[in-house]
Amino acid sequence: MSIILTNISYTYMPGTPYEQKALSNVSLTIEPGEFVGIIGHTGSGKSTLVQHLNGLLKPTVGSVTVEHIDLHAKGDAAKKARRKVGMVFQYPEHQLFEETIYEDISFGPRNLGLDPDEVERRVRLGMEFVGLDYDTFAKRSPFRLSGGQMRRVAIAGVIALQPDYLVLDEPSAGLDPRGRDEIFSQVINLHQTTGTAVVLVSHNMEDIARMANRLIVMSSGQVKLDGSPEDIFRNRKEDLAAAGVDVPPVTSLMTAIKQRGLAVDDGALTVEQAVQSIEAAIKGGQK
Ligand code: ADP
Ligand code: MG
Repeated sequence: MSIILTNISYTYMPGTPYEQKALSNVSLTIEPGEFVGIIGHTGSGKSTLVQHLNGLLKPTVGSVTVEHIDLHAKGDAAKKARRKVGMVFQYPEHQLFEETIYEDISFGPRNLGLDPDEVERRVRLGMEFVGLDYDTFAKRSPFRLSGGQMRRVAIAGVIALQPDYLVLDEPSAGLDPRGRDEIFSQVINLHQTTGTAVVLVSHNMEDIARMANRLIVMSSGQVKLDGSPEDIFRNRKEDLAAAGVDVPPVTSLMTAIKQRGLAVDDGALTVEQAVQSIEAAIKGGQK
């Protein structure tokens, strides 16, 4: 019961002068209930990779299965398997198209063939998730909303599908810190209360360090590192630098402090851990 990518490669526009190899020979298993962070510099293949998880892209070579069903097989089983994976794209607000927010969020559930009461329940669930009040917003046009609110509508539409796996590709890009925190606290809440697996692509190392149980580092279309954030940010700093990604800002601050002679933990990932470590180092030094 998992998503399994086996030796996948992907080439955009093969056989043309614009041919671009975006993934080469990636094998990966995403287990139910995991919280996986994916990082890597621009162009490293993150978006291409995650678009394979729900069958949106078909690998040029290799296969993708969800719960042992090949996503590119013909028939209902493959269709059902693809629906287990909900995808929030980069700038999902570009995909809003219905006249009201209700219609937009209910588009997916209606397509699942659910009855109207269940569709409404799903819309309410999605709107609650993203903090949009049903009575205030359901009948409004999505195009009158602020950018942050449009993003929420788009995310609500994916939540309304109740996927087993939720994939988010840079969901906080362009949001203010408050909008970002609200969405992430809901994602954490969903993960903890329902056990939905989350795959989060982000360039914000602090967010990843705080939330993910597992970290995947992409570079040049390949998985370069795959392990716990604690281990990777603490022990693989050189590999990270080679992949062109940074450790969380707090971790580089702690490294600098340690180099100046205070015996702090240079693997601290969050502000809270850093504060504890600095306090302990100072107390230790006073003895
Ligand atoms: P990331 O999400 O890590 O920035 P992408 O998966 O978007 O990386 O891109 C991987 C590679 O594929 C890059 O070289 C990029 O230029 C190329 N690429 C991405 N999308 C397309 C596309 N639609 N057509 C052609 N090349 C693309
Ligand atoms: Mg991308």
